[in-house]
Amino acid sequence: MPVERLPVSPQKAATGGQPKTQDLTPKTDEFWMEEALRCAQRGLEAGEVPVGAVVVCDGRIVGRGWNRNLTDSDPTAHAEIVALREAGAAVGNHRLEDCELFATIEPCAMCAGAMVHARIRRLVYGADDPKAGAVHSVMAVLNHPQLNHRIEVRSGVLAGRSAEVLQSFFRNRR
Ligand SMILES: [Zn+2]
Repeated sequence: MPVERLPVSPQKAATGGQPKTQDLTPKTDEFWMEEALRCAQRGLEAGEVPVGAVVVCDGRIVGRGWNRNLTDSDPTAHAEIVALREAGAAVGNHRLEDCELFATIEPCAMCAGAMVHARIRRLVYGADDPKAGAVHSVMAVLNHPQLNHRIEVRSGVLAGRSAEVLQSFFRNRR
């Protein structure tokens, strides 16, 4: 191998002579939840109920979503559904077995059902939704004893901020 013919100057190496490597240090749940909160903020700016979600696969985001019900006149356009659609397209598979979903609020029955269809491996969410939550608050669509697929769940991550975004939205509407 002609090593002597690869004269990489120190300056070139420092200014992009090498491909930018991906930062593969494991991220915390809180890190991804910050991304989901940013999505919720995008929803808020669009006048939507501010809920956000991201789908993470192999340490990177493959889907982002915020509510688009009003924007798209679409009753199914919840943050989680939007993020799952984007993730499926990005991964090239309707099964997302290696993926985790981060949502600011406990998913509803529709979104929990979609996660089961997608075979999502793990769900992390912020605040409980006592009105529509389908992980445990109102019903248990996720990990229903008669469904085969099991999803690991962690709740309460950045819950205070997730709830606050939502509550201030409804306060301001009154
Ligand atoms: Zn939903």
